[in-house]
Amino acid sequence: LGGSISRALQQMSNATIIDEKVLNECLNEITRALLQADVQFKLVRDMTTNIKKIVNLDDLAAGHNKRRIIQQAVFNELCKILDPGKPSFTPKKGKPSVVMFVGLQGSGKTTTCTKYAYYHQKKGWKPALVCADTFRAGAFDQLKQNATKAKIPFYGSYTESDPVKIAVDGVETFKKENCDLIIVDTSGRHKQEAALFEEMRQVAEATKPDLVIFVMDSSIGQAAFDQAQAFKQSVAVGAVIVTKMDGHAKGGGALSAVAATKSPVIFIGTGEHMDEFEVFDVKPFVSRLLGMGDWSGFMDKIQEVVPMDQQPELLQKLSEGHFTLRIMYEQFQNILKMGPIGQVFSMLPGFSAELMPKGREKESQSKIKRYMTMMDSMTNEGKIG
Ligand code: GDP
Ligand code: MG
Repeated sequence: LGGSISRALQQMSNATIIDEKVLNECLNEITRALLQADVQFKLVRDMTTNIKKIVNLDDLAAGHNKRRIIQQAVFNELCKILDPGKPSFTPKKGKPSVVMFVGLQGSGKTTTCTKYAYYHQKKGWKPALVCADTFRAGAFDQLKQNATKAKIPFYGSYTESDPVKIAVDGVETFKKENCDLIIVDTSGRHKQEAALFEEMRQVAEATKPDLVIFVMDSSIGQAAFDQAQAFKQSVAVGAVIVTKMDGHAKGGGALSAVAATKSPVIFIGTGEHMDEFEVFDVKPFVSRLLGMGDWSGFMDKIQEVVPMDQQPELLQKLSEGHFTLRIMYEQFQNILKMGPIGQVFSMLPGFSAELMPKGREKESQSKIKRYMTMMDSMTNEGKIG
């Protein structure tokens, strides 16, 4: 996606005369790319219509910033789609909240429940997990295993078949134990959607969740809108979590989910492990969707690992765009400390996560170490990029 949008914008900036035809061609190219990234057709069409209204052809023809003007317009429109206009309910530490997870089977609910609990536990909360999925064999065992690994209290049953009863009992149990974040995992059976939605409605009615989170697999493509809307119609979905963002999916379905539920995306799942979970941030997400890199996320990471006294100088140089090989070399050690190397590189403009395939981090790290050795052998002049 990033590639074709960059190409479209590049063509735009190469054209000497900007007329409606050139703008339309550019928008067609962007449309194709966004559709490929699973953004819903209607959303894309509305967006391009808006852009045609916003972008003034005279400004484009006169200015040398054509590329930036269009890029900014596309960026802003995509950000707007991801902003439903009101934040979701946010649980308060120390006050009991019930959070119910819904979504189709395989979307990542059980995994995401644990990630969500673990994330809060690390911040000093007292979370607990309730398994109200009595449909899938082994559902309780899976949750129990996850919860045990994360040392989070859990509730479920091997014999009780009524999900509503388990949900209510679990919530009551943990309220008595002063847990402040009681998370209810639910079933997500396929092919029996009418029964599923009825079950969700009953569990929600009985447990009165403060927040219902819709969990969506990022790879479901154009089905995202209808799926999200169907859940929203049976329970009061208030937030969205998009999973499997580490795979091939570009995440365009997130835009559909927000549009269908009128709720914000709050986290994304980036792997099977407990800590592969990130707070969702609109601008870096859109940057990545457009292949523009994620400078702000990169800066945050840098701030985490670069020694305090070196930060002002480095950030100054970065913000001026002086990211020379010398600086890169000086920061390579720090970058190696930043965690999964593929994730770090996917934040850099011009790089994509595919350059650093998952599961091959070791290889990538040794590659970086090789670059450092190569740079060692360069002259000082060579290092000044
Ligand atoms: P549920 O049926 O909705 O409860 O889904 P599960 O939590 O059981 O997840 C289904 C599969 O997706 C499991 O194999 C998970 O490990 C996997 N999964 C969940 N979230 C992610 C993610 O963010 N990235 C990847 N790669 N796999 C995930
Ligand atoms: Mg499950």
